[in-house]
Amino acid sequence: MAGSILAGAWQGRQFIAGRWHAASGEVFENINPAQTEQVLGLYPRGTADDVDAAVAAARRSFDAWRRTSRIRRGELFMNLANLIRRDTDQLAEVLARENGKVLNEARAEIIEGLHMVEYVFGTARQPVGQVVESEIAGKDLYVRRKPRGVVAVITPWNFPFAVPLWMLGPSLLEGNTTVFKPSEETPEIGQRLVQLFEEAGFPPGTINLVHGTGEVAGDALARHADVDVVAFTGSYEVGAHIRQLAAAADHKTCALELGSKSAVIVCQDADLRLAVNAALLSAFKTTGQRCVSAGRVLVHRKLLDQFAREFVDQTQRLKFGDPFDPTVFAGPMINGSGVDKVLSYNELARQEQAQVLLDGGRLTGPEHAQGWFLGPFVYVQEHRPAVRTIREEVFGPHVAIVPFDSDEQAVEIYNDTPYGLSMAVITEDYRRWRLYRDECDYGMGYVNLPCIGAEVHLPFGGVKRSGNGQPSAAALVDAVTHKTAFTVNYDRKIIMAQGMSAETSDNTKKSARNNEPH
Ligand code: NAD
Repeated sequence: MAGSILAGAWQGRQFIAGRWHAASGEVFENINPAQTEQVLGLYPRGTADDVDAAVAAARRSFDAWRRTSRIRRGELFMNLANLIRRDTDQLAEVLARENGKVLNEARAEIIEGLHMVEYVFGTARQPVGQVVESEIAGKDLYVRRKPRGVVAVITPWNFPFAVPLWMLGPSLLEGNTTVFKPSEETPEIGQRLVQLFEEAGFPPGTINLVHGTGEVAGDALARHADVDVVAFTGSYEVGAHIRQLAAAADHKTCALELGSKSAVIVCQDADLRLAVNAALLSAFKTTGQRCVSAGRVLVHRKLLDQFAREFVDQTQRLKFGDPFDPTVFAGPMINGSGVDKVLSYNELARQEQAQVLLDGGRLTGPEHAQGWFLGPFVYVQEHRPAVRTIREEVFGPHVAIVPFDSDEQAVEIYNDTPYGLSMAVITEDYRRWRLYRDECDYGMGYVNLPCIGAEVHLPFGGVKRSGNGQPSAAALVDAVTHKTAFTVNYDRKIIMAQGMSAETSDNTKKSARNNEPH
């Protein structure tokens, strides 16, 4: 990479035990995907030793932090919310520049992160367990959540502000301490976020930041013996590796949010205008680089021609370009390998006899010359065995229109992929959406909406290759705590549940004496 270092480029730092550390060894470049000649900053390439130091700092601070009043922990999140509100515009610009999503979407992501922080603050005064009845009148039973310990938070580049907060928020509120490894594609927004945690007053060691590649820093963190939970969002391939590491360790758990082949399903009674709008947003918002992006639009054959015509017509009007231009719909791809991957799937679609309706290819306008810009690729593909492009995640502006003849067949097509993250059904018939609700494999379902878009107080997760059943955002609390059962006896004698005798042959007399009234 022969990029020019931007004037005022960032010198990235790692944050360990409450202190910022400049790079002492190798660094990596943070590249602007819309202007690839621009190096936005240089960041330490975190090593296994850095990870050791960060995990040790998190472990040292764990006991003091878990003993800190939960309400006090919550108040620090209120401070953090105020700081994010103060810096919203600046954070949105940082995000749009290094990630490439358009400024309005970058701002929406900062607001989503803010909502998560506000939610976490609000839950600080909520119950941490339950009081339940015992079989025995003289006993009280409690269920109480306890923190697990050190949580590793490893996140992707496509939601580099909101997703870390979905994980750091519940982890820290519940009394865990954390080590955060942001994506190497978006290190600046990760570092800014940690600076705000520091400014908000989180004690040294409760949040630590290690930069670097997945293969070195991420891997060392995920396999570290003193990490109790790995909260990971990213690709299926890396998630599967992390699941194996966790399975091999006695004490480790993981919460995985992975890839998808999400879909919009357009039923024969659909409002066509709404259907086209929902499909456009689902397929091309964020240049198709959302985990929930629709790689497929399933369309009832009766509507196929009309839908395809409208969809292609409107897709051609979408503007892809500079994320800071307010007339632009979507920005660049994140990097060259993302571009190559989409182009190879476009080629594969042709090999698999797709009927190609639109092939945007690499964009070549003067405003595109310096960036990783791709245009939309739209095709019709019949559902047949072994067609890869309608089953595998592509992660870019590549969408298949797949015809179907009945609702039952649409369900079968929808489920015929290894993933199960997000599904939207477009229909005016409540009986129809109930069928899809009950028969499709997904974590997030929508009716008459795009299959993208989330609110932080809902669980966010998927099934099959899309996750391991530990949803994120508000629901992450289940992954970063364990539930303890706690039983207190108020009687003077021991009475066992299920009618089991509490007497032993040796202590019959003694216990009879003990049971006499005092
Ligand atoms: P990725 O899996 O390449 O990287 C994610 C993170 O894992 C990065 O921080 C990376 O450095 C790290 N990593 C890479 N190799 C590692 C290893 N061996 N050990 C430990 N960590 C490692 O994913 P990406 O390209 O950053 O993001 C795109 C993927 O994320 C897509 O598949 C998308 O669907 C998925 N995603 C899922 C959700 C969800 O909630 N389900 C949300 C956003 C993105």
